[in-house]
Amino acid sequence: MTRVFNFSPGPATLPEPVLRQAAQEMLDWHGSGMSVMEMSHRGKEFMSIHAEAEDLLAELMGIPSGYQVLFMQGGAIGENAIVPMNLIGATGRADYVLTGDWSKKSYKEAKTYGQVNVAATGEASRFTAIPQPSEWKLDPGAAYVHICSNETIGGVQFHWTPDTGRVPLVADMSSDILSRPIDVSRYGLIYAGAQKNIGPSGLTIVVVRKDLLGHALPITPSAFNYQTQAEADSMYNTPPTYAIYIAGLVLKHVKALGGMAAIAEHNARKAKVLYDFLDASSFYRNPVAREDRSLMNVPFWLKDEALDERFLQGAQERGMIQLKGHRSVGGMRASIYNAMPVEGVQALVKYMQEFERAHG
Ligand SMILES: *Cc1c(COP(=O)(O)O)cnc(C)c1O
Repeated sequence: MTRVFNFSPGPATLPEPVLRQAAQEMLDWHGSGMSVMEMSHRGKEFMSIHAEAEDLLAELMGIPSGYQVLFMQGGAIGENAIVPMNLIGATGRADYVLTGDWSKKSYKEAKTYGQVNVAATGEASRFTAIPQPSEWKLDPGAAYVHICSNETIGGVQFHWTPDTGRVPLVADMSSDILSRPIDVSRYGLIYAGAQKNIGPSGLTIVVVRKDLLGHALPITPSAFNYQTQAEADSMYNTPPTYAIYIAGLVLKHVKALGGMAAIAEHNARKAKVLYDFLDASSFYRNPVAREDRSLMNVPFWLKDEALDERFLQGAQERGMIQLKGHRSVGGMRASIYNAMPVEGVQALVKYMQEFERAHG
């Protein structure tokens, strides 16, 4: 068996020990005589899997009491509608900070549900930098302020937590959740699709401060009503059971590696290998402001775009896949989530050096 170094932006590479364990438990989970996929979500076996995953998430993220964890479906794009449906009703208005494609998408979707304002935008820098807090025009009457903590396409990441005063901060953390320690108490709500750092697609994580529940617009479908799901412990409808199981295995693995501090150190070291190389090269280029560079998604461009296909083909031949940049921006992108080993980044840099020598 040969495993590739998979630089996919998502669904993305998972820790190999987790996949091995899942394979081993596939037909008979812990002597139950069945696969997790075949279990009733209300049976004692799955209930224990669900509770353990929830407890591990709370432990690793340091989620304070007063917050509710929800395991939902619909992905982060679903949440772009579900968040305003549930929260905007408090005042009818919300602020959005635009830092790239994903936050722009969130903003557009929210317009259907209330009055949404652009509090700040990185447009002047062509979204290569996070707008300075002094430029933000926050509405004190907003129901929430929305940010995307890591722009998966543009490779721009918040390395600080915005201070929004009494207005709750909402963050789409799809591509950097569990990649570093965060102070959950600074947020009103965090959401993330699982398929970058936590597990398979199909599971959406929501962490919400309980006092924000209860403002859902009357049009909110009950399966997407946070309060309804909170009261049912995410079992109002059938949750994505197998995805929750795998997420639980990933969380256990992350805990065994030393938790958030160890993961953050590993991620910083990994990203540095790639950025140091890009900085020293005139053949490859990354346009993002140094202080806002993403440690998870590293877009880069070759000096001559005519070489793109050859670069990708050579990478593939060396067992490195999914390096093509997003179709909207072109170029390359290396997604180096938690489960990407440092060896993968080292192999990539080695190949980039060889390619530069051959074509530079
Ligand atoms: C991947 C991603 C999404 C899209 O998530 P879906 O699961 O496809 O809905 C949204 N926001 C960010 C920041 C992402 O990285």
